[in-house]
Amino acid sequence: MISCFKGKFRVTSPRGVRTDPITGKKGTYHKGLDLVGIDDTTVYSISSGIVRTAYEAGGAGYYIVITMDDGRRVYYMHLKKGSFKVKNGERVSKGQALGIMGSTGNSTGLHTHLELRVKGTSYDDLDITEFTGIPNKIGVYEYKEQLSDKEKHEYAVSCACNVEDKTGLEKQTINWLWTYKYADDLFIKLWESMDRQK
Ligand SMILES: [Zn+2]
Repeated sequence: MISCFKGKFRVTSPRGVRTDPITGKKGTYHKGLDLVGIDDTTVYSISSGIVRTAYEAGGAGYYIVITMDDGRRVYYMHLKKGSFKVKNGERVSKGQALGIMGSTGNSTGLHTHLELRVKGTSYDDLDITEFTGIPNKIGVYEYKEQLSDKEKHEYAVSCACNVEDKTGLEKQTINWLWTYKYADDLFIKLWESMDRQK
């Protein structure tokens, strides 16, 4: 699974036909997933791509669109005013922070509307559940970032200097552990020590 929220989050409204929460109109089509971050309200990009930031008073509020290399677009709607962490035209990578969950535009409460659209300028949506693995069903789910070995190694190297005294391990020991394939244990130790520093 990939999600725009790290840790626990809630699906409050699935994709599909529903009663519009604002107009009360039955049988309206909801093109994305409404998600509420529980552990963390930062909204992260679920893909790499090019940023477009926009505002739409009566609809999406403050929102961000990421156009992926294949042209499909990911929408993050109703973000908090002033919370954009990226700029128009900027290239972002998967996992990069985009903004903070909000309730701007047509919204009944704090949430992020996550939607996947076809290539081009059409409003047609694609199956966001198929893309993310987030169940299309109301409930609480959890997204734990799965880093590749290469990413773990890069992370370990980048923070090794800072954590020598925090972990009680010397840099040589860190390198030795790495070399002898204790990468996961080492990573956990580094991760914990970084948490303590916060
Ligand atoms: Zn929605």
